[in-house]
Amino acid sequence: MTEPSAKPRKVRCPTCGADVVWSAESPYRPFCSERCRLIDLGAWATDKYRVEGETPLDDGSDPLRHTH
Ligand SMILES: [Zn+2]
Repeated sequence: MTEPSAKPRKVRCPTCGADVVWSAESPYRPFCSERCRLIDLGAWATDKYRVEGETPLDDGSDPLRHTH
């Protein structure tokens, strides 16, 4: 049996609950990803709009703008 001298410390992503290794490999710790970090920061609404929005806001067709 070989036991590593330094066990990788694991934490749980506060946003999605995924296991995150507490090391330099996880730059977004304690979150598993940048996305989860942004979500926790309160940017989830904006992020959701960008990811799940089927109609982009910048499609050039603004109904409020009269283009003649
Ligand atoms: Zn996560």
